[in-house]
Amino acid sequence: MPDSLNKIYDIAIVGSGPAAFSASIYASRYKLSNIVFGNLLGGTISEAHKVCNYPGVSDVSGYDLAMNFYNQANELGGEYSTSRITDIHKEKDIFRLISDTQKEYFAKTIILGIGTNRNKLNLKDEDKYLGKGVSYCATCDAMFYKDKIVVVVGGSNAATMAASMLSEIAKKVYIIYRGTELKGEPMWNEVVEKKNNIEIIFTTIVIGLEGEEKLERIKLSRAYNGSEYIDTDGLFVEIGSVPNIDLANKLGLELDSHKYIKVNEDQSTSLDGVWAAGDCTSASNRFRQVVTAASEGSIAANAIFGYLRKGHDSSYSTEIY
Ligand SMILES: Cc1cc2nc3c(=O)[nH]c(=O)nc-3n(C[C@H](O)[C@H](O)[C@H](O)COP(=O)(O)OP(=O)(O)OC[C@H]3O[C@@H](n4cnc5c(N)ncnc54)[C@H](O)[C@@H]3O)c2cc1C
Repeated sequence: MPDSLNKIYDIAIVGSGPAAFSASIYASRYKLSNIVFGNLLGGTISEAHKVCNYPGVSDVSGYDLAMNFYNQANELGGEYSTSRITDIHKEKDIFRLISDTQKEYFAKTIILGIGTNRNKLNLKDEDKYLGKGVSYCATCDAMFYKDKIVVVVGGSNAATMAASMLSEIAKKVYIIYRGTELKGEPMWNEVVEKKNNIEIIFTTIVIGLEGEEKLERIKLSRAYNGSEYIDTDGLFVEIGSVPNIDLANKLGLELDSHKYIKVNEDQSTSLDGVWAAGDCTSASNRFRQVVTAASEGSIAANAIFGYLRKGHDSSYSTEIY
């Protein structure tokens, strides 16, 4: 294992999801030294119950898919550090990265594949019930709700996937959604609509959380079956996410109006030497999926190959076979 602290990497890849590992795989095949930083190996997808839309893998758990990405990157020589990067400075042509373990790393270029953060309901006591009934990850916590009653908030794929998985374990699952119809993939909507133990409550918002030691009931914005309350053991919040922009702000990167990192065709950002890929960017028509994140990571690595080889001209592009 090289002494990562004393070397200057060709690329430091911040984030540990599909965008990051795809970038690492391509970078290693271009013989560019690289290191991936992340506290959650595999990123967000490692928490997904099932992935059925990644080409070539018809039905795989998010965790297994993420581990495949990691193993492939590792076999090709990409390094991995289980840490978060808390700061990045550009000093002349070299970037200095500081990790939460107070270590310093140096790199010629950066790829940010830092994904997004889950939205919260922002209700009073939401944090108090975290781990005591409130969860943001059905894959991680579903097993605690065997034969219990749970509520999923949201109407997108994440919500329908979570509800579908929970329905296999819990006795009863409510989906509470503020809209008038589910907005995810029709395939997932059909799955939940066919389940006998899933009940969908539309045009309703959760406005309160109650319970002594743990969550016992939620308050609704309007009465359902004659009551403003639903007794529940668990509440799974699946209402989307916001970009993770701390590092982008520290680097002074240009953001779009929704605060995603603005990137060019080659995934380069407004700061020379910094690229961004995956859910944190404005690219891929804002279609935030594993396949688009992996694609953006590969484009960034390809552009950096040209940038380093041709003296900082990222328009140089090549293909590998
Ligand atoms: C429940 C659920 C189900 C999904 N199902 C599917 C599906 O079936 N198919 C599909 O294609 N997509 C699915 N998605 C979307 C998919 O997970 C994302 O599009 C994809 O993971 C984006 O990859 P990424 O590499 O851009 O970011 P992420 O996977 O979010 O990875 C970014 C990682 O970077 C880390 N990070 C952030 N800041 C730092 C830092 N400063 N230092 C170090 N690390 C940092 C984060 O902790 C995170 O682990 C699903 C999402 C959810 C929530």
